[in-house]
Amino acid sequence: MEDLLKVAVIIFIMAAAAWEFAVGRGRDGRRTKKDWQMAILATFMMAVVQRPILAIAVSVLLSGIFPSSAGSLAWLQQEYFWAALIAYFCIEEFLHGGSHYFSHMKRPKNKALQWIQAFYKMSHRPHHLSGGPDNKGQVTVLQTFINGWAWWFILPNFWFQITCLYLGLTEVFIIATVFKGLWAAHTHVNWNYDLYFLNHKNKWVRNIMWGLCHIITFPTQHHQHHSRGKNSAKNVTATLAIYDWLIFKTMAIETSKPEIYGWRQSEDEANSVFKRYFNTNVKKYMPGR
Ligand SMILES: [Zn+2]
Ligand SMILES: [Zn+2]
Repeated sequence: MEDLLKVAVIIFIMAAAAWEFAVGRGRDGRRTKKDWQMAILATFMMAVVQRPILAIAVSVLLSGIFPSSAGSLAWLQQEYFWAALIAYFCIEEFLHGGSHYFSHMKRPKNKALQWIQAFYKMSHRPHHLSGGPDNKGQVTVLQTFINGWAWWFILPNFWFQITCLYLGLTEVFIIATVFKGLWAAHTHVNWNYDLYFLNHKNKWVRNIMWGLCHIITFPTQHHQHHSRGKNSAKNVTATLAIYDWLIFKTMAIETSKPEIYGWRQSEDEANSVFKRYFNTNVKKYMPGR
């Protein structure tokens, strides 16, 4: 069942990539060969290396600390399915948004926290590298699962996901993960349909969309997160913009696409996907570097 639903996300990404190709949304430097290579490398590593390691680590840890805890929360989803699903989704997204926010926020004063943040910055950086040095790059659906090698191990929401799965919240985990995967993929597609509503000539249409953007993360909000400039530290949530609005204070609703996408790349990053993905130079992200 889990595999079947994983396939749904992969099929969506492939279909969206084919659509982008067909209508020319990957053309003229919007998407480069390196973007393809990064997407294949990161998605392969996620499915074959990182997720399985995470699953083994969680089950070894939990079966060691709390023997016979496997499946012990299955009753929760049997008796209160919708409540369990909503609670799971809100907690998972909060942990995800919070740690993503930590990777982008102002540097903390504490030295140990600075090192931790530097590690997060190093791991997250590849997600913000798209297109080539000509600055014509944009964001396409291929960017969805691109991050550095360590990202899957350091984000608390991934530990939370696998822990819930281990404790027996199987259906809750699957439905939430697939829904979130599809939503995150759709906010990366090079199709800013939300701008049609945000710029609509009818005031009511504009206002309703404006309101919805306070609750849910739409493509242009996430595209703005991929911009170069001040908005790249905004809109840190994948699905629930209400956290950006009310908790992190990082909401940015714009009525156009970013002018420039992606952070400036070093020569190494521009030339090698392996240098992007297997980066281990934490020091580079410490103050004064
Ligand atoms: Zn980011
Ligand atoms: Zn993104």
